[in-house]
Amino acid sequence: MLNRPAVPHSGPVVAPAPSAQRFTSRRTLTLADVGDIASQLEPSGLSRGEAQEVGQEIARALGPAPGEIRLILDLESYGEAAKLITLEATRSDGTGLMLHREGNGTLTAKPLTGALTRRLTVVRGEIDSNSFYTSAVTAGVTDSLIGEVANAFSYDFDMQREVAPGDVFEVAFEQAYNRANEAVGVPRLAYVSLRTATLSRNLYRFTPPGQREAGWFDGNGASVVRALMRTPVDSARISSQFGMRTHPILGYQKLHRGTDFAAPTGTPVFASGNATVEFAGPKGPNGNFIRLHHDNGWETLYLHLNRILPGVTPGGRVAQGQQIGEIGTTGRSTGPHLHYEVHIDGEPVDPLKIDVGTGQSLTGAVLAAFLKQRDAIDTQRAARQ
Ligand SMILES: [Zn+2]
Repeated sequence: MLNRPAVPHSGPVVAPAPSAQRFTSRRTLTLADVGDIASQLEPSGLSRGEAQEVGQEIARALGPAPGEIRLILDLESYGEAAKLITLEATRSDGTGLMLHREGNGTLTAKPLTGALTRRLTVVRGEIDSNSFYTSAVTAGVTDSLIGEVANAFSYDFDMQREVAPGDVFEVAFEQAYNRANEAVGVPRLAYVSLRTATLSRNLYRFTPPGQREAGWFDGNGASVVRALMRTPVDSARISSQFGMRTHPILGYQKLHRGTDFAAPTGTPVFASGNATVEFAGPKGPNGNFIRLHHDNGWETLYLHLNRILPGVTPGGRVAQGQQIGEIGTTGRSTGPHLHYEVHIDGEPVDPLKIDVGTGQSLTGAVLAAFLKQRDAIDTQRAARQ
């Protein structure tokens, strides 16, 4: 028999089977559709049967509505296989379902109600040398809100001509956040203010009970809406003011009975107030011409239009801010512009100088509800000074 010296054992120590290694992990998934859940769970190590069962349970709880779904999974893994410990499935509004593995191995389900918190963001800034838009973006106003801010001011300020560098604005808007602190839904304006050299306005957004649309009100509950808007056209240059001037075509001194707004052909022209259409059509030197009779007895005239919109016909109604035509240069005109007149008691007056009065005021219980909301906003604004 061979008598060999014993070879010392020098091989590697054999590790225990991998199935004995247990570790827990958390995965976060964002899915485009509730139908994707089962196929997304399988790669995490769940058996096909469990993935499908869990997927169906979540689909039942969340419903088929489109929109992103967020999953947070806590897993206990054994090599390639995994056991679900907890799973939270939520829609962006925070509603959803929580699954939890009990000690006896069964999964229990608990619905999650949306836990949204709303926060007010208060932004202050100064008008820069460019525009209200760039100033607001620089200050931190969400750009989708800026058009609405300008609309809120449109009865009080001519944003093209009466706002200058150094004027101060403040914008407060509300945003909802889910439990993951992600913004949910669109932001909503709550408050806007603007202070120029000559005028200061603080406006609160409020929806009177029973009304579908929110409106803007000053601190006393008076609506910003007046009989007439400040101007019937956006982003136009005033090329001629109301008053005595030498007529550009006729050559002699004559009262210019309105205001000329120069802008490219096709620029929208809006009804400056609710009215009945008195005249709409071509009329000699006026070109394509609209004359509106407003509910307070005033009249507004729109001359040299390129085109009158369909539906704007004598006897018909138009609403404040509704487009009625396009800027053009029809009739006796030297270039594309709107000649705009306002008549009070049958006499032309300077459209840029008329006192359009104050808006309707809230009263009674509606006013009380408004004042409560105003105070809540002011308290939050003060907290962010
Ligand atoms: Zn004119």
